[in-house]
Amino acid sequence: MTLDTTPPWEDVQNYVGGSWQSPSGDGGEDVIDPATGETVSHVSFSSAADVDEAVAAGREAFETWRSTPVEERIQPLFELKQLLETHQEELAEVLVREHGKTFGEAMGELRRGIENVEVACGVPSMMQAGHVPNAAPDIDETAVRKPLGVFAAITPFNFPGMIPLWFLPYAVATGNTFVLKPSEQDPVVTQRLFELLDETGFPDGVVQLVHGAADTVNTLLDHDGVEGVSFVGSTPVAEHVYERAASSGKRVQAQGGAKNHIVVTETADLEFAARKTVSSACACGGERCLANDVVVVEDGVYDEFADRVVEVAREQTVGYGLDEETDIGALITPEHEASVRDVIATGIEEGAELLLDGRAVEVPGYEAGNFLGPTVFGEVDPETTVAREEIFGPVLGLIRVESLDEAIAVVNQSRFGNAASLFTADGGDAKRVRHEADVGNLAVNAGTAAPMAFFHFGGRKASFFGDLHAQGDDMIRFYTDETVYIERWPNA
Ligand code: NAD
Repeated sequence: MTLDTTPPWEDVQNYVGGSWQSPSGDGGEDVIDPATGETVSHVSFSSAADVDEAVAAGREAFETWRSTPVEERIQPLFELKQLLETHQEELAEVLVREHGKTFGEAMGELRRGIENVEVACGVPSMMQAGHVPNAAPDIDETAVRKPLGVFAAITPFNFPGMIPLWFLPYAVATGNTFVLKPSEQDPVVTQRLFELLDETGFPDGVVQLVHGAADTVNTLLDHDGVEGVSFVGSTPVAEHVYERAASSGKRVQAQGGAKNHIVVTETADLEFAARKTVSSACACGGERCLANDVVVVEDGVYDEFADRVVEVAREQTVGYGLDEETDIGALITPEHEASVRDVIATGIEEGAELLLDGRAVEVPGYEAGNFLGPTVFGEVDPETTVAREEIFGPVLGLIRVESLDEAIAVVNQSRFGNAASLFTADGGDAKRVRHEADVGNLAVNAGTAAPMAFFHFGGRKASFFGDLHAQGDDMIRFYTDETVYIERWPNA
């Protein structure tokens, strides 16, 4: 099959019980190419009845799927991996046209998604629990991991090709069935993912796709046919999802927003650190929960590091995501671009030094696009907006500190705890930061602390609500419940 990569595309559809259906609720919105301003598709929102139907299809399929041998349950995932590899470039092109990031970034995102499919193919080993013979006199005890039913996932706009795959492969491989509610801002790549899923051997009802916005989400959160909910998005919505789904007794994991720091010590390789810093802050237009956009720099190297960062940032090419020379693509909407411009204005008002101003950037041929060039602030006060709030744009702030103690204090005073990076040549400094930084993912001499799929994706404080995270082994525990069998056989 060939995936349709040339817009305008048909309105996106729900996928329920193995069939495509038009969402039947009120409301909807156009899907807009952020680089051209053109309408590329339309999403209608699902009604409560659409959600009911999707959950019912999942519950019906669960009755058979839960007892399907695990070795059979993973076969469609091997097919999915192959299909994703074959169609990766087409998916990446769709992603660029509805999201605005670069083709290379879209390919990288999809690679990360495929890695999760690969890891979930190991569920027959990962699902094993424990057995203790003679745990008590004549008693053997065995723990088994059992699937629970229908799980839902609600995902954000910024990685529409990857984040659904943090959940779906593990949910179904462990024997559950699944309902995905993707972001309404860029739903077409998810539609294409489900077109591929439709080609695999999953029985009808194992995977469902429902489109919508807040009302659709709330229907899923309240639904008594849903056992658990995974959420990725902004902190206020993560908190809402966590509280509302938990209040009806569901398992919940809710990943929220972020504000991530880089610490640069006096022993760091400054050129390397500057390149990694700019790429961490500006890749995907800064629309990443792992973007490190505050850099805490030791005084002795601050001036030299600031010069190098500005030099590297100035070299970035802003443009259309499908143009090969583009480093930074378009932001998701004009409203979001305006909110990032507001933060830049606030940074100036709050007294930070504007070392590089990206606001005047122009992309010939794409005048209607939501473009913003890299912007660098120096001498940022740790108490101000640029230092404390998630910006989600290519804006970077530098904070001068006297010592590593002060740098760690700046990292830990954040209300977020998603990630941080440290650049140093001193193992003692690295050991201290590993122990003391209150973050869920920490990179040393790497720009972005992105864990591979076989490790969970950490996150703390206002960046995460719950206990079991996305990816890896945590997903197996989230999607299963351990029953313990205590057995005595008198004639043994
Ligand atoms: P968002 O919170 O606006 O939307 C996320 C999802 O929630 C969407 O599917 C949306 O339809 C739904 N939603 C929005 N408002 C809702 C409401 N009031 N009630 C119920 N559901 C609602 O987030 P976004 O703008 O799509 O994504 C960007 C955010 O996601 C950033 O804050 C980013 O840091 C965060 N994010 C976090 C991680 C992580 O791993 N921690 C990963 C990616 C993105």
